[in-house]
Amino acid sequence: MNSFDFKEYFDFFPFRRIWGTKYRTASRHNNKKIYQNKKLKLRPHFSFRYSGITWHIDSSKGKAGEVNLITHAHSDHHGQKNLENLNAIASKETAKILEVCCSKKYRGKTFEIGETIKINGVKIRTYPTYHMHGSSAFLFDNGVLITGDVKDYRKLPKCKVLVTEATYGSPEYNFEEEIDKLRSVGSSTLGAYPIGKSQRVAKILLDEGYSVKVEGKAGKICRELGIEVDDSGEITITSPKELYYRSGRKYILTAQNLYKIPKIVVSDHLNYSGILSMIEHCKPECVIIYHGNPGKELIDEIRGLGCEVTLLNELIKL
Ligand SMILES: [Zn+2]
Ligand SMILES: [Zn+2]
Repeated sequence: MNSFDFKEYFDFFPFRRIWGTKYRTASRHNNKKIYQNKKLKLRPHFSFRYSGITWHIDSSKGKAGEVNLITHAHSDHHGQKNLENLNAIASKETAKILEVCCSKKYRGKTFEIGETIKINGVKIRTYPTYHMHGSSAFLFDNGVLITGDVKDYRKLPKCKVLVTEATYGSPEYNFEEEIDKLRSVGSSTLGAYPIGKSQRVAKILLDEGYSVKVEGKAGKICRELGIEVDDSGEITITSPKELYYRSGRKYILTAQNLYKIPKIVVSDHLNYSGILSMIEHCKPECVIIYHGNPGKELIDEIRGLGCEVTLLNELIKL
């Protein structure tokens, strides 16, 4: 489906925002003029018109009167200049994490996950996605559900159009998480992505009864969220980079195969079959994959479930 089909069938008009135009630049090198074609650039991720308003999803700040929805605090989702954007919308926890990460005050609107918010007469329900603290999905009153990144889809509602991610959008990513292995890890140093994964893991280990130290910015975010980490602990959580320099028992927490250190599979995303289960659960007529790497197999399997699939590059660029 293209942007005009969505307008006709679902009463919203998705598009990608252009910034900059195609142009030629000239420079001199060894007294010769060199011409270069600069490419058309697009803003992340996508935008749409609905109910007379332009909405930007996990994108940079829009113009006056336009609204920015932020699904979670990861840097590729919160969008540039949204901390000072009065028309940005994010959950309270997302706003807190952004303030620690960016050392700036968040000036947009906030909500508690689970709340229904109203923006210029449009009702939007919010749902948790368990990808990280504060991550939330948005259900518009025309049946469009925007998930952001998802770890657990079970609280998500049914919808007509599902706008979602496919970080693990190929069959080779059918990993199983090793949460039991994590729970019984004992005294060790763990390498985890500082924003999101470190807090999720710290919470699991604290619930298990360990004392946990979380280093750096990740520790600051824990304290801001009320996760009771210590200054020293049986378990230390540090960044994957830092883990290389640590001695003793250590594990990297990831679903990727990029590291030589022993790993425990802990992922903040659905695996391949999880993405398909989410689609079966939400029962959309159409899926827009707005983030990640959807492989051909995934697209075919979604079609096999009776859903249309649209990728970002099929949307009109305006
Ligand atoms: Zn994320
Ligand atoms: Zn992401």
